[in-house]
Amino acid sequence: MDKKLAIFDRDGIINREIGRYVFRDSDFEYVPGFWEFVKRLRDQGYCFAVATNQGGIAKGLYTHQDFKNLMIRVEKGFAERNAEYIGTFYAPGHDDICKTLARKPKSLMLERAMAKAKAMPEHAFFIGDSLRDVQAAESAGIRGYRVLPNTNLNDFFDDYQF
Ligand SMILES: [Mg+2]
Repeated sequence: MDKKLAIFDRDGIINREIGRYVFRDSDFEYVPGFWEFVKRLRDQGYCFAVATNQGGIAKGLYTHQDFKNLMIRVEKGFAERNAEYIGTFYAPGHDDICKTLARKPKSLMLERAMAKAKAMPEHAFFIGDSLRDVQAAESAGIRGYRVLPNTNLNDFFDDYQF
């Protein structure tokens, strides 16, 4: 059977959007309800991936390693809940600095996640909090949901059938 895949933007969806780049441990705070939402999807057979723009790396504000250190926490969170985690896909470039193929609204990260999960487009979706997130989903041919930053996803999707 085809895999079902839920892809998340990071800032504003997994951890709280705080109006500046999040790369310090002390700035990383989970959005309430995130892990409950993951468990709900897990129980319906979903696996998970993250697709996030991290232009602060190109700007020299933080390093690849800073980013990876925070994602280790997230990846551990999935493992602790027996939720299959496909991978972290991130775009370190920024249009002000360099041309980048991965950065949303381009769809490359979503397509890579789907390929790795072996998920068909009709069995995948992406949740983000900005216009470029839904644009990327549209380009990738998958469902895209835009929520306000720091939304409790359980409230937003309430009785939605995935
Ligand atoms: Mg975001």
